[in-house]
Amino acid sequence: MVEKLIIAKNVKETVSLMKEGFQPLAGGTEVNRLNSTVKGKNFVYIGKIADLKTIEKSILEGVSGSYIKIGAVCTFQDAIENDLVPGYLKEACRFMSSRVRRNMATLCGNIAVRRDDSYLIPALLAADAKLFVYSMFGRKSVISLSDYIFKKEKYGSYFVAALLVNTETGAVSQKRYANTASSHGYITMAAAKKGDMCQVGLCVKNSGFYVFDGSKTPDVVLKDDIFGSRAYKKYLIDVTREDLVSSVQGDSGCCCDGSEKGKASEKKSGGAK
Ligand SMILES: Cc1cc2nc3c(=O)[nH]c(=O)nc-3n(C[C@H](O)[C@H](O)[C@H](O)COP(=O)(O)OP(=O)(O)OC[C@H]3O[C@@H](n4cnc5c(N)ncnc54)[C@H](O)[C@@H]3O)c2cc1C
Repeated sequence: MVEKLIIAKNVKETVSLMKEGFQPLAGGTEVNRLNSTVKGKNFVYIGKIADLKTIEKSILEGVSGSYIKIGAVCTFQDAIENDLVPGYLKEACRFMSSRVRRNMATLCGNIAVRRDDSYLIPALLAADAKLFVYSMFGRKSVISLSDYIFKKEKYGSYFVAALLVNTETGAVSQKRYANTASSHGYITMAAAKKGDMCQVGLCVKNSGFYVFDGSKTPDVVLKDDIFGSRAYKKYLIDVTREDLVSSVQGDSGCCCDGSEKGKASEKKSGGAK
């Protein structure tokens, strides 16, 4: 239950309120969700900060390549409708099947929640995305998404001002397993071409996040649960990795310019669930 809500005028005010214990409120789709893990009573609404509403090209100091910067209050639907946004990211945004929710939910909010059924994190880990962040002391920096996800104790309290995606990312292919389009995804995996190799981002419901070189599946700690047995999930992870890696190595994934050259073939998911 929200007790105190302050509408922030700018990032500086947001960060100083966060230092006092306020949490950012963006689209509110996770904050207001029944059984949400987000707890807290004091929120700072960031939706009125004009600087955070843009999607634009960006060159980062000291970092090679050019990036598309997606501000913290840009919604899934804003990204889908924007010509600058790479095709693989639009595809990941479409994993959120509800148009109503896509009009509210932000990409940065999705990243900040770090849900293990995240629509976006696997593709963004595979594609080496970065984040433009502010520490509680107001210090700006650019960090890798991977650091933000895996070093929660360090970056958990940071404000995410923008998502940065490299325009030179090679082919990306991805797959999400869920019982229906609007159910929780129990395995979401993406592979991105990186020079001669392939980088894979993975999230498994009730097991967490992984990023790895696509030549081999790492040891994923799996659980038997409502989504399937450990053996079934292991099977899906193995065949999906092979499928996605061969798809991007053949350059047949979803490309940065938004075009789709092809899609990973659907593998039959046999085995007892
Ligand atoms: C029915 C339903 C089903 C859902 N299913 C899924 C699902 O399968 N997979 C999935 O990934 N999500 C799911 N969600 C959750 C949610 O829709 C998304 O994760 C969404 O992208 C969150 O974005 P938001 O802008 O609504 O975040 P909010 O709800 O506003 O905020 C979420 C959290 O992130 C923090 N936050 C927001 N923006 C920032 C920022 N810029 N910097 C730092 N912290 C920030 C907030 O303080 C809060 O803790 C579901 C939600 C609903 C209602």
